Amino acid sequence: MGTPNDHAPLAERVEELLAANGPLPIVTAGDPVLRRGTEPFDGQLEPALLARFVEALRLTMHAAPGVGLAAPQVGVGLRIAVIEDPAPVPEEVRLARGRVPQPFRVLVNPSYEPVGAERVAFFEGCLSVPGYQAVVARPAEVRLTGQDEHGRALDEVFTGWPARIVQHETDHLDGVLYLDRAEPRSLSSHQAVAERWSQPTAERAARALGFELP
Ligand code: ZN
Repeated sequence: MGTPNDHAPLAERVEELLAANGPLPIVTAGDPVLRRGTEPFDGQLEPALLARFVEALRLTMHAAPGVGLAAPQVGVGLRIAVIEDPAPVPEEVRLARGRVPQPFRVLVNPSYEPVGAERVAFFEGCLSVPGYQAVVARPAEVRLTGQDEHGRALDEVFTGWPARIVQHETDHLDGVLYLDRAEPRSLSSHQAVAERWSQPTAERAARALGFELP
């Protein structure tokens, strides 16, 4: 909507970010851009610029490293995110968390709704909240709708860890951080998770730290 001039500032902001080459700086919690929500993507970036922006998000996600990255995390208030998870985890973790490999995907204007009532809770973290993880109960299965980077319709059911990733990234586009949905008493440093809470499930952490699992 609006005239091309209305869109100029966002495109200019993205051009500025891309001018630096290499991974983009990741915005951290406390920056209002993570809380404002985002504009639906509607051609604000012309196709070549969109393609370069998506490639920069991918590069930044790999460098971090992370399994998802949303545009607000690089300071851009557009409803775009990328996901990719090679899932380099032991078999017991794969089974308990459903952490199967997720190929690279671009999510444009995504939204999700739960499929069924089952909820599952595991530790998760966020590149915009460095140093910490917390347990978040989320729907085990969601239906994700939106588009891909070419404007093709996306309508897909995600389960297991990929369902968690698409919920986390879509939440970013609504100005929601995982901490908003987390069990506060589960908050743990990366070091504590590595030393104590690396079990496939969060049951031991729930007992020791005093929070409920679904
Ligand atoms: Zn995040």
